[in-house]
Amino acid sequence: MNRKRVVIVGGGYAGVEALHILASSGWCDVVLIDAHPYHYLQTDVYSLIANECSIGQVSVDLVALCLSYGDHVTYIKDTIRAIDFDNRCVSGENSCHPYDYLLLSTGARTAFSASAIGLKEHSHGVKTLPSALRFKQQFEQRLYQRMESEGGWCGDPFTIVIGGGGLSGVEIAAEMAYYVEKFYRDNSLTCDNIHIYLVIPHEDILEGMDPYLIPNATKRLRSLGVRIINHSRITSVEEHRLVLNGETPLVFDFMIFTGGIVASTLTSTMDTPKNKKSQLIVDEYLSLVSYGQVFAAGDIAELRDLKGRLLPSSAQIAEQSGRCAAVNIVALINGQAMKKAPLRLKGVMIALGGKYASVSLLGWFRWSGYGAYWIKWGVMRWYRLRMIRRCKLGVSMRSAEV
Ligand SMILES: Cc1cc2nc3c(=O)[nH]c(=O)nc-3n(C[C@H](O)[C@H](O)[C@H](O)COP(=O)(O)OP(=O)(O)OC[C@H]3O[C@@H](n4cnc5c(N)ncnc54)[C@H](O)[C@@H]3O)c2cc1C
Repeated sequence: MNRKRVVIVGGGYAGVEALHILASSGWCDVVLIDAHPYHYLQTDVYSLIANECSIGQVSVDLVALCLSYGDHVTYIKDTIRAIDFDNRCVSGENSCHPYDYLLLSTGARTAFSASAIGLKEHSHGVKTLPSALRFKQQFEQRLYQRMESEGGWCGDPFTIVIGGGGLSGVEIAAEMAYYVEKFYRDNSLTCDNIHIYLVIPHEDILEGMDPYLIPNATKRLRSLGVRIINHSRITSVEEHRLVLNGETPLVFDFMIFTGGIVASTLTSTMDTPKNKKSQLIVDEYLSLVSYGQVFAAGDIAELRDLKGRLLPSSAQIAEQSGRCAAVNIVALINGQAMKKAPLRLKGVMIALGGKYASVSLLGWFRWSGYGAYWIKWGVMRWYRLRMIRRCKLGVSMRSAEV
C-alpha cells in the first residue's frame, strides 16, 4: 500500500499538536508547511513585551521539531496562497505541494474594523512575532526619546491606548502597566506620568467570560493604574490622535489594537462555507463539508463543543482540535470510522502583570493572585518544555547523521 501524504499548513498550536499525532502514528508521510520556521508562542507574548523573557523563549524551531520525528516528516517554509481541491494540491510562493489529506491550521489575524478609519495604519498588533517585536522595540524607543527630550521631567503625559478588552488586550494592558510601574521603581525616575487607557466597547472587560474573572481583573487593572474607558468604539485614528464614538478625541503616543480576530487570509481564496469572521465551517469531525479529505483546526475554523455551543478562539481549543483532526485523518487512512471531536473549554487563565494571575478552571476552581500565577506559569512552561525536548531530540538526531 502507498503511504499517504498528509500536509499540515500552519505550525501553530493546532498544527504542531496534529503533527505529533500524525508523525507518531507511523501510518503516513507528513509535510508541515509554515510561512515561518518557528512556532510562535502567542500566549507568552506578554512576558516578551515586559522584558521577562527573550525571543527564544516565545518561539519553537519547527525544523528541529520535524527532524525529531524522523525521515517521514518534512518541514517546508512557504506561504500558501491557494488550494486546488480538485487536483489535491496547495500552492505556495513558487511551488504546488500535493496531498492525500490536508489539515488547514493557519490561525487568525487581528480584525481591524473597516469603519475605524486609519486604525490599521496607526496601531500596533501582537498576533505575529515580528509585530510583537516591533511593538516592544518602538515602545521602549519612544519611552527613551521622551525621557531624553524632556530631561526626566515629562511635561505632557505619555499616553498608551490599548483597544479591545478581551484576553489579549487585558493581559497586555496589565503587563505594560506593571512594566511601567517597575520601570519607575527600578530607576526612581521623576517622569511618572505615563497613562494607560484600555478602550472597550462594552460595559466590562472580558465580555462573555466567567463572571468571577471580570471583577478580579478589573480591580487588578485599576490597582496598576490602567484607566478603562467603556462603551467606546474607536471610529477614526490619525497619528497620535483617535476619536471615540465619533466625537471624543483622545491624544496618544502609542497604540495597540487587539479587538477581535478574523481567519487567516488563506480562507479568502476558498469557495467554501465561512462565518462572519471568515472562519471555515467544519463538521463534527472537523472536516470541510464538501471536501472529506480536508480538515481545519484552531482559529481558522468555527469550532463548537459536542452540544453545538460556539467555542472561543484560544490556544487550548486549537490544540484539542489539532489533535482530533489528526486522529480522524489516521482513522481515514486505516479505513476506520472517524470520531466526533469532543472539544471542551477547560478554563481560562489570565496573566495580570508581574506574578499575578486569575484562573477559572473546570467550572469550579477559581483563584486570583500569586498562586494562580504559578498555575498559569506551570501550564505554559510544561507546553514549552515538551516542545523544546523534542527539538533537542531533532538536533541530536541530525548531528548523529552528519
Ligand atoms: C496576546 C495574546 C495572548 C493570548 N493568550 C492566550 C491565552 O492565555 N490562552 C489561550 O488559550 N489563548 C490565548 N491566545 C490565543 C491563542 O494564541 C490563539 O488562539 C492560538 O494561537 C491559535 O492557534 P492556531 O494554531 O489556530 O494558530 P496560530 O498559533 O496563530 O498559528 C498559525 C500558524 O500558521 C502560519 N501561517 C499563517 N498563514 C499561513 C500561510 N498562508 N501559509 C503558511 N503558513 C501560514 C503562521 O505562521 C503560524 O505559525 C492569545 C493570543 C494573543 C495574541
